[in-house]
Amino acid sequence: MRLILLGLPGAGKGTQGECISEKYGIPHISTGSLIRSVIASGSELGKIVNKYISEGNLIPDEYMIEILRHRLSSSDDCKDGWILDGYPRTVVQALHLDSMLKQNLMEIDCAFDIRISCKEAVLRIIKRRVCRSCNQVYSFVQTEVEAVCKKCGSKLYQRSDDNIEVAMHRLEVYMEQTHPLVHYYANLGKLISINGEQDINLVFTAVDKEISEFVKENRIGEAQ
Ligand SMILES: [Zn+2]
Repeated sequence: MRLILLGLPGAGKGTQGECISEKYGIPHISTGSLIRSVIASGSELGKIVNKYISEGNLIPDEYMIEILRHRLSSSDDCKDGWILDGYPRTVVQALHLDSMLKQNLMEIDCAFDIRISCKEAVLRIIKRRVCRSCNQVYSFVQTEVEAVCKKCGSKLYQRSDDNIEVAMHRLEVYMEQTHPLVHYYANLGKLISINGEQDINLVFTAVDKEISEFVKENRIGEAQ
């Protein structure tokens, strides 16, 4: 099962990715983790990527698809599928991805669009806190008492880019560059929209229902 997660920053793609991964045993591959692992590998590609990142530049599309190709093919954990979170980020990247998959006689099964309003996205971004030690992300910190990591007890902090100006800018960039992917996957008949403003467990219930149905239909297809 090959899935893509779409949604505004703050929509909860990471959380849903982890939940799907846990239940279905397929890896949740975020762009951040992809980039960190290729740099850590020390390969030629890793060195090139590190140069872009350390200079604060975006990684060109041709390198991103190489990183992804490597991640999807080199590891055994991808044989039953995967969940992409943060890639593709543009329609051009989606075209790259589709042609790479096609070469391997594969395709995307579903793209989930986890929908929240822009107003909600900004609220969530500015309320977000991160653990200093283990990088666990927390969505709604109401009081200082809660400003401690539930996993490791370390102090939480607000990332310097989680402020309202940066948040607004990120939403603009998303709407301009990434939102067109919703139409791209809708045209392919692969888009599934999920209400991302309900309780986090209900979001997963909705996602899970769609995946279960997909799996069921697919098995029926195989049996015939
Ligand atoms: Zn922690």
